Amino acid sequence: MVTYLKDILLIVFFIFSPLVFYPYIYKCKNNIILYRSLLAVLFSVILIIVMTVPINIQGVIYDFRSVIVILGSLYGGPVVSLILFGLLVMYRWILGNPHMLIYIVSILPIVIIVLLTLKKYNPLKIKHKIIMAVILCTVMKLLTINIYLLLLGSADTIINNIIETIQTYIVQAFIIGVVVYLIELLIQYYYIQDEIYKSGKIKMVSEMAASVAHEIRNPLTTVKGFIQLLGSDLIENEKKEYYMDICLEELNRADLIISDYLSLAKTDETITKKINVTNEMNHLMSVLMTYANYNNINVETDFSNGNETYIIGDRNKFRQALINIGKNAIEAMEKGGTLSLEVIKLSDSVALRIRDTGVGMTQEQINKLGTPYYSTKEKGTGLGTMVTFAIIKKMNGKIEIKSEVNKGTEYTFTFPLVKGEVS
Ligand code: ADP
Ligand code: MG
Repeated sequence: MVTYLKDILLIVFFIFSPLVFYPYIYKCKNNIILYRSLLAVLFSVILIIVMTVPINIQGVIYDFRSVIVILGSLYGGPVVSLILFGLLVMYRWILGNPHMLIYIVSILPIVIIVLLTLKKYNPLKIKHKIIMAVILCTVMKLLTINIYLLLLGSADTIINNIIETIQTYIVQAFIIGVVVYLIELLIQYYYIQDEIYKSGKIKMVSEMAASVAHEIRNPLTTVKGFIQLLGSDLIENEKKEYYMDICLEELNRADLIISDYLSLAKTDETITKKINVTNEMNHLMSVLMTYANYNNINVETDFSNGNETYIIGDRNKFRQALINIGKNAIEAMEKGGTLSLEVIKLSDSVALRIRDTGVGMTQEQINKLGTPYYSTKEKGTGLGTMVTFAIIKKMNGKIEIKSEVNKGTEYTFTFPLVKGEVS
């Protein structure tokens, strides 16, 4: 046996090679025709290699061809099985082996057995799969060689090499057992990976849905407020038009948010343009006004310092960011209070300040800001600050939060300044 160890090891190496390629082929599992074709090619190539470098032990050839044919049949299905059996017969003929007809007759029983039992393989547990593969492989060799030799009338060859014959059966059984075990491990590993990927995707989609719902609520609240105002007779026409404009703008924004989130998974693209800071703070004020009035909150503004001040970013996202913070400020002042909005122009930066006189936060609560789903509100989503911080950081903005329990909170966002007119 030791004499043949080198040759056996070489063959073992070839037999184990499906394990190297199998992961790539497994990825095409959803395209069953491609998957089976690739398996047919892989096992055909290995079958030819294995048959080309056989081990010759005292005139009897051992090449573990049964291992490959059985493996290919079990994992590739009936078509691959027939291809491999066909190839086996053909290649044997090409190699110049005599008694073609006798060989075909001796191989027929195992072809039938394999085709009839294949279906039972897939649902089996690993242990039973190994047993089935070992049995089929052993039966294949046993039947083919013995029928062949019997038909040739040279049964004595089997008896003469009985020890080697038994040894090859054992080695072959061991090899196919190990390969099946490893292939099954790989399949299990890929299955688990698939599941993890799927559950991750489901989580992302549900998170996105929650975010969309949250973000859409802001413009809808505004529109609701203005529509209520529009119903009142006390408002003059000019103001009505102005409110209608804001409503339309907010609805457009809702529309944008939806498409934004839908494309979130695909790209990270944002429309970066110059943003007029004062315009945006004015917009923020008008959007928050109804909400503030409704909650008995006084709104103070000081934008005098920020004329013609520009920063760079995506305007709609920036609006979203400010509204999230403004809404939080109002929601922190359930018993009324003052909301101040301020623009402070510095030499090469501009600071936007949103301050409230609400419930305030402890340091621990401040630290938790921006983490998804952190909310102390009954109907809160805990997504507002997360979205805002992400937007501000993307615009190279700095975030500063000061807060005192029962006194109020102050958010300051500082952005690098862009000089000049809107392009
Ligand atoms: P949500 O508003 O849905 O709760 P946010 O991410 O917008 O989610 O805010 C998270 C939490 O941070 C709020 O639930 C609140 O406890 C706290 N918070 C945010 N801004 C303020 C503020 N201005 N004053 C007091 N607490 C605040
Ligand atoms: Mg919020």
